[in-house]
Amino acid sequence: MREYKVTMQEENVLSRILCNGCGKEISPDRADHFHGEKTWGYFSEKDGRQDSFDLCEDCYDKLTEYFEIKMK
Ligand SMILES: [Zn+2]
Repeated sequence: MREYKVTMQEENVLSRILCNGCGKEISPDRADHFHGEKTWGYFSEKDGRQDSFDLCEDCYDKLTEYFEIKMK
């Protein structure tokens, strides 16, 4: 989850990133992490919905270990 703050110039600036899996803060400059974005299409149950999430490396590993077909 990405939180933004609005500057005096009314620009949205990324202030912090939280892992959607565990809630831990991810330091954007020191810890690499996974960011996913998806806009669901017409032929889905979520027509037009925009989803995005961030995962720390530990939560990414937990998610991907359940894949039936392992990543290369
Ligand atoms: Zn996490």
